[in-house]
Amino acid sequence: MVSAQIVAKRETCIGAGQCVFADPDAFDQDDNGLVVVLQADPASPDALARAKEAVNVCPSRSITLLA
Ligand code: SF4
Repeated sequence: MVSAQIVAKRETCIGAGQCVFADPDAFDQDDNGLVVVLQADPASPDALARAKEAVNVCPSRSITLLA
């Protein structure tokens, strides 16, 4: 069972969209380009891996994965 929580800080998001590219199931962008979390709890190992990739590629370090 996967147990992790995706947290995104919209205050520091710069709208780069890398998270959406890495994990379109979990992330979207609002009309201002700021991150929106669609799915905060990765439901499978694959989803967890994509969430970790999103953490790694976010240029403003606005995504955290809480175990
Ligand atoms: S990758 Fe980071 S900076 Fe870019 S939209 Fe996602 S959270 Fe915001």
